[in-house]
Amino acid sequence: MKFHVVVVLVACLILACHIDTCMAANSEGFSVSEINAPTFERMKGKSYKDNCPIPLTDLRYLHVLHKDIDGVTHEGELICNVRIADDVLEIFKALYEAGYPIERVSLVDDYGADDETSMRDNNSSCFNFRFISHTTKISKHGLGLAVDINTLYNPYVKEVDGKRIVEPATADEYTDRSKDFRYKIEKGDLCYKLFTERGFEWGGEWKTVKDYQHFEVSDEVARELYPDYR
Ligand SMILES: [Zn+2]
Repeated sequence: MKFHVVVVLVACLILACHIDTCMAANSEGFSVSEINAPTFERMKGKSYKDNCPIPLTDLRYLHVLHKDIDGVTHEGELICNVRIADDVLEIFKALYEAGYPIERVSLVDDYGADDETSMRDNNSSCFNFRFISHTTKISKHGLGLAVDINTLYNPYVKEVDGKRIVEPATADEYTDRSKDFRYKIEKGDLCYKLFTERGFEWGGEWKTVKDYQHFEVSDEVARELYPDYR
């Protein structure tokens, strides 16, 4: 092979590698993958309890980037149902690109799968096998079909036997939705739009209970996937 041909080939190779690296950098930070053994080790006995009826193959691990209120980029990770994995990835990508503030996105397993602790830390998350508070019904989080965003500032509020319950318990000051404060989700904001455009319901629009942090698929979709879901 002539010398100049070799030079051209090497130059092409270097250029191709460079383009490859650039493309990888652009999509870097956002990915969906199956639950691997190390991830399952983190979940086992925590978000993925022994009585969990959802096969592990129905769940996906998402790696995302997000920006906090100061515009600082952080890495985040979520587990959700395969049915919504691509939608949730796209939503987080759009929120990141728009600089919509999200403080923390960690697996609930990092909090021992304790929802209250995770919410007090303003953590955003999805899968956690559990029942709806104060009921025996499996929460859509138990199916990986609901996402909670900025949980401390967007609490769950319910009346039980005349008593007002706020979760997390430290979020009382954020139940007054007429006030303005950071990380607040409002009807019509970007987070609301991205989720509802893809068919999610917002708990902030429910009548008897208010769950301002919560976006979930409809009961119909849940039953399509899990006919026993009631
Ligand atoms: Zn929720």
